[in-house]
Amino acid sequence: MPHFRDDGVVIRTYKLGEADRIVIIYTRGRGKIRAVAKGIRKTKSKFGARLDPASIVHIQCYEGRNLDIVTQVESREIFVDLRSNLDSFGRAAVLLEIVDQVAVESESNPALYKLLTGALAELNRSANPMVVPAFVAKVLALEGVQPYLDACVNCEATENIVALDISAGGVLCQDCRRGEPLSHEARQALLLVFDGQVRAALEMTSEKVVNELEGLSARMIEQHIERRLRTSDVLQQFH
Ligand SMILES: [Zn+2]
Repeated sequence: MPHFRDDGVVIRTYKLGEADRIVIIYTRGRGKIRAVAKGIRKTKSKFGARLDPASIVHIQCYEGRNLDIVTQVESREIFVDLRSNLDSFGRAAVLLEIVDQVAVESESNPALYKLLTGALAELNRSANPMVVPAFVAKVLALEGVQPYLDACVNCEATENIVALDISAGGVLCQDCRRGEPLSHEARQALLLVFDGQVRAALEMTSEKVVNELEGLSARMIEQHIERRLRTSDVLQQFH
């Protein structure tokens, strides 16, 4: 029977039959996979809580005819602090759902894997609310749909930028404004992320910027995925 091993982040699980669960895992080497964890819902399951969402695991599977079967799981990282903070855990759920939505099954994307594990680790370490907006901006860049922020997409003005129209692909000046209002600080934070200065962007934690960017990033990613995220309700609750 062909086996494989990989590291991955548990995205979600759902029930299968009486005792089993399907586990969706975003792996480093194989992208998004789904596999059966047999007997996981029995009290004496060998998997225990190791396949809880947002955990990083090292798994061994064998390739079944229809579905892969999980044979071994080792915990790599369980993110204890993230689990004990409701806001952080809610934000982690948003990250997981975004990856679930944008990932193509069995298509490896090491950059997305690194982004997800880095964002979870940062949420665990600092509970920083700017992690989700920075993550969304990075995902949009990886997906090739990063909004243009340098000048008005209508008239090329670089002064008095006041709005972001996601469908127009970027920012707009006072005269051309449509779409959503965009503050100078929020634009600066996004520019820092796209410029590779994520650490500096994560320091912009004023409540105003966080609220603005959480709302904006939810709408940007929703538009990209072309469907409303179930977890965007989690983002809205912070407003
Ligand atoms: Zn303009």
